[in-house]
Amino acid sequence: MSFSNLGLSEKVLAAVAATGYTNPTPIQEQAIPHVLARKDVLGIAQTGTGKTAAFVLPMLTILEKGRARARMPRTLILEPTRELAAQVKENFDRYGAGQKLNVALLIGGVSFGDQDAKLTRGVDVLIATPGRLLDHTERGGLLLTGVELLVIDEADRMLDMGFIPDIERICKLVPFTRQTLFFTATMPPEIRRITEAFLHNPQKVEVSKPATTAVTVTQSQVPAGREAHEKRELLRRLLREAKDLKNAIIFCNRKREVAIVHKSLQKHGFSVGALHGDMDQPARMAALDQFRKGELPLLVASDVAARGLDIPEVSHVFNFDVPHHPDDYVHRVGRTGRAGRTGTAISIVTPLDQKSMAAIEKLIGQSIPRAEGDYEAQAEAGDASEHPREQRGRERSRGGRGKSPRERGQRGHDRERSHEPRGESRPSTEARPTREAKPPREAGHASEPRRGSRPQANHSHVPSIGRPEPRRQRDVDTEPGDHSHLPAFLLRPVRSPAGA
Ligand code: AMP
Repeated sequence: MSFSNLGLSEKVLAAVAATGYTNPTPIQEQAIPHVLARKDVLGIAQTGTGKTAAFVLPMLTILEKGRARARMPRTLILEPTRELAAQVKENFDRYGAGQKLNVALLIGGVSFGDQDAKLTRGVDVLIATPGRLLDHTERGGLLLTGVELLVIDEADRMLDMGFIPDIERICKLVPFTRQTLFFTATMPPEIRRITEAFLHNPQKVEVSKPATTAVTVTQSQVPAGREAHEKRELLRRLLREAKDLKNAIIFCNRKREVAIVHKSLQKHGFSVGALHGDMDQPARMAALDQFRKGELPLLVASDVAARGLDIPEVSHVFNFDVPHHPDDYVHRVGRTGRAGRTGTAISIVTPLDQKSMAAIEKLIGQSIPRAEGDYEAQAEAGDASEHPREQRGRERSRGGRGKSPRERGQRGHDRERSHEPRGESRPSTEARPTREAKPPREAGHASEPRRGSRPQANHSHVPSIGRPEPRRQRDVDTEPGDHSHLPAFLLRPVRSPAGA
């Protein structure tokens, strides 16, 4: 099948040829004719499948006829994050270069004034995150009654971020007769409900089984001690010993952890950037840009910030934290091994992560092998050297830890979002300063081989991910046994029974 058989306009075909694509991807092949026939589409596809072009190319063809009116966009695309919205805009800029279309981006962290001015000039394509879009409609500067085509992208991520009520509100503001294109990687019941409510006889196109990891990705798990500083030591070792590491995304569950791991790696001489929901838009874009260009080969990120990023050549994904929800594992691992390339995904697994790992293995339908090496012994040595008080504290905490945040009715991502109204419009706050660890324990800790005693790995293949560690440095943040990363309710003192 070639692009010319799909019904796209000459201009769009020329733009595709200029990009160098020879054949449509399966999602493009299946979805584009339905979009051009003005049918609703339910696309089940992950990022990396070419799904963005699957809606951008036919939209460009449709938009060749007609023109925009002030404050009444003709088409609307909803994206869960600013980065994804910006990426979709890049797609319009690339494929729509030969057309005079007005494409506007409504995302948080950018001034309302500039966005208002754009809306006043008339917009053919409005790409928005839900929170900022509703801010504009509430201010009266935007009317959605002229929207002929609505795209809801990454719907399952919208669900994770708590955007579904916003999506429902927006769906009621656009005309009932519009065409709707709906993309999701997975179909949890809440998403199914939304599709039933807002799509009209949709054409279902599905390109890969939801929740599968690419066969080109080599996955492994590495056991670690429970303490955060042990995990950071292990991460450094893994980074130094990784084979064919060109660049890597290191995922943490919470934005605070992102800031800590980022700072720690920097201190240890690695070239590393960070991406989390509390950074302002220019800082996020700058980090992403440096990572894309290879100036910073390592990126520490949270799920929310990194979701769906189109970074074609990531050689490694590290799960510094095992995600609480198995879907997130699939999305993280999906950052590598894209478009048939090979990739490596390594998860750092503490004893407390066993339940989450079992859920992940069940979801992806395969077991994740343990990495070869002396990691196990090191993890055990780390745990054995714990202070008894820390152990007691943890035993107490564990009562509330058995359940994942989602099981407790609280989503992991919501914690990231809880500080951000609708996750979008809040300007940045700096990562809170972190505390210094006590050096003696770190220096003498059993779980990192001392320099010289480390297995003689050949690091010549390691690109300039960082300077070799000049000498033992103090790690940042937590002291051993510091549980400040735990939710406050887990840290409340437990009253002992009388006489105990
Ligand atoms: P997406 O799933 O939209 O994030 O796209 C993933 C990657 O595939 C992007 O880097 C696109 O530029 C690329 N891509 C999209 N369509 C094609 C195609 N037909 N042939 C080759 N690459 C493509």
